[in-house]
Amino acid sequence: MINRKNVAVIGGGVSGLAAAKAFDEKGHRVVGFERSHDFGGVWELSRSYPDVQTQSPKDLYCYTDHPMPDEYPEWPKGPQVHAYLHSYAEKHNIARLFRLNTSVKTMERRKDDAAGWTLTIEAGGQEWTEDFDFVSVCTGQFSDKNIITHPGQDAFVERGGSVMHSSEYTDPSVCKGKDVVVLGGSKSATDIAVNAASNGARSVRLVYLENVWRVPYFVGGINFKRLLYMRAQEQQFNQWGKNLLQRVIAAVLKPLVWANFRGLEALLKVQLKMKKHNMVPTTPIEKEVSCSVPIVTPGLIDCLNSGTIKPVLGTFDSYTDEGLKLTTGVTVPCDVAVLAVGWKLGVPYLPQQYQEKLIEDDGQYRVYRLSVNPDLPDMGFVGFNSSFCTVLSAEIIANWLVRYADGQLANQPTAVDMNKNIDMMLNWKRNERPAAKIYGGLCSAPFHFKHFDEVLADIGAKKKKRSNPLAEQFSYPNAAAYGTFLASAPQYKAG
Ligand SMILES: Cc1cc2nc3c(=O)[nH]c(=O)nc-3n(C[C@H](O)[C@H](O)[C@H](O)COP(=O)(O)OP(=O)(O)OC[C@H]3O[C@@H](n4cnc5c(N)ncnc54)[C@H](O)[C@@H]3O)c2cc1C
Repeated sequence: MINRKNVAVIGGGVSGLAAAKAFDEKGHRVVGFERSHDFGGVWELSRSYPDVQTQSPKDLYCYTDHPMPDEYPEWPKGPQVHAYLHSYAEKHNIARLFRLNTSVKTMERRKDDAAGWTLTIEAGGQEWTEDFDFVSVCTGQFSDKNIITHPGQDAFVERGGSVMHSSEYTDPSVCKGKDVVVLGGSKSATDIAVNAASNGARSVRLVYLENVWRVPYFVGGINFKRLLYMRAQEQQFNQWGKNLLQRVIAAVLKPLVWANFRGLEALLKVQLKMKKHNMVPTTPIEKEVSCSVPIVTPGLIDCLNSGTIKPVLGTFDSYTDEGLKLTTGVTVPCDVAVLAVGWKLGVPYLPQQYQEKLIEDDGQYRVYRLSVNPDLPDMGFVGFNSSFCTVLSAEIIANWLVRYADGQLANQPTAVDMNKNIDMMLNWKRNERPAAKIYGGLCSAPFHFKHFDEVLADIGAKKKKRSNPLAEQFSYPNAAAYGTFLASAPQYKAG
């Protein structure tokens, strides 16, 4: 008999919805907290810049039982993703579980010696506490803006200049007739640069620190989902936990793998005219692939070719009377500075003593299966296993987490097992695959299949792969198929 638990879900984005459904379905009493007025997280409309669209194709950015509508384009726009998330919440009657405009300020272990946590909650200027047996943290990696300032900024703003974070760029008319400088080289930076260029900016500069590999939606005319999301491709990256035989096979195949990636690089260099724009990275592509690899914004290459966007390697130095001084020593004209410098990763509601158990000195998170820490009982993360198909990743780990909480995993780990695995993964990230350290090590890409295999094995899924071995090796993770894999695990109900 599994006891019904009172479960808090913090966050109402992609992951919060998945977690609320998973715990509710198993019979637990779920209360969700979302500090915003609406669901959606990064897709909530007031946080989205114009023209934002997914990097993942639509069938790689959906829950297992809820495909995106047929009429959606291959890469849906922000408002379409937002509407999709609402339709998922409606389909599973999840909204009733959530309190909107409600923040979790802090969480402490319960003082009554019971398992679980006491949450301090704030809404409408009131604060109170509530006890929960288990907490599912779904606050994402993009919740708190990274705010940076440069010398001379106040005077620049007083003179009529604008400085904004990328998430505040919601009205392209601010660019009309203006000199715009975007700081950053990520997808949001290039999205905004292209948007500004096509909305009447006088000039647009993209100032970024280093060249990175970018992947276009179509590589050599083929949708990248058919090339880069395959199990066969994933196995060519240096995965964790290889046994001796796998290491021998990898050594034998090394020249072929090398040739495969050099071929891909050559194709990208030509297609994206990277040499012409001095944008060729120095790191081999296979060493770099992680959640931070940006997809090329449609129109970017045309804008670079026509000179409407000027790329500059460097960063901001200071705002001066003449404009914006860059670290290259050059001063460029600037009326609007958009800082596409990302988000602060963190768990600010978790008191310091718990953060110390969770986060190592170099910022790496100690989380087993990217979800739980053995020294922080009765809680786990959903969505901290971000990927190139984060909706699916969140749903799969939410299903793992509820079973972990209920002691119903087929491979229920001990604290010793978890710490051993965490140490092995940290060692792999630090010494074999530094790209995996991105976002505190909370990224499962490009190892989607390997991560899902481990999680499904833990859950006790009887089916973990498609019956057709060719489809399994050479096509992308299929959300509906993962629905059947999850359903093949032993089912139970709390209560
Ligand atoms: C522009 C953009 C495009 C992207 N495109 C893709 C893509 O194509 N493919 C892909 O896989 N990923 C993509 N991502 C990554 C994206 O973050 C994930 O896909 C996913 O949306 C993350 O969902 P989440 O629920 O984990 O986090 P979030 O969406 O960040 O949601 C977290 C929620 O928690 C709430 N919250 C935070 N703290 C508290 C608190 N203390 N109390 C109460 N509520 C709180 C926040 O308000 C927020 O609503 C994109 C991200 C951005 C920004």
